[in-house]
Amino acid sequence: MALGILPDDSKIDPSVTCEACEAVCCRLTVVIDASDRVPEHLIARGPNGVDTMAHGSDGWCLALDHANKRCGIYATRPSVCRKFAMGGGYCRFKRAKFANSGLSLRVL
Ligand code: SF4
Ligand code: SF4
Repeated sequence: MALGILPDDSKIDPSVTCEACEAVCCRLTVVIDASDRVPEHLIARGPNGVDTMAHGSDGWCLALDHANKRCGIYATRPSVCRKFAMGGGYCRFKRAKFANSGLSLRVL
């Protein structure tokens, strides 16, 4: 997505809830900040020194609690995840894209 056409995160759709979502944002690449405290086994060490949340073979973040569709490390989730706006432009954009993907979250 090119800069300038980023979804508008300043507008929140209050009808969107995580309870009615397949943790779509937990398929995104999450860069781990130096101040984040993420368990080592959930980190993908990048060759360029950029660490990200590791993903499972299904494409979802390894920290996701699939059965409950919740973050398994909620209290210590990365700052990027803390800032992600439920019902915001990026959330709605990713949900719409996911709806047409044919993918679905399965309980592992
Ligand atoms: S923030 Fe948005 S994309 Fe992420 S789980 Fe909640 S509703 Fe789904
Ligand atoms: S750390 Fe938690 S909130 Fe962030 S992508 Fe992984 S499961 Fe989702």
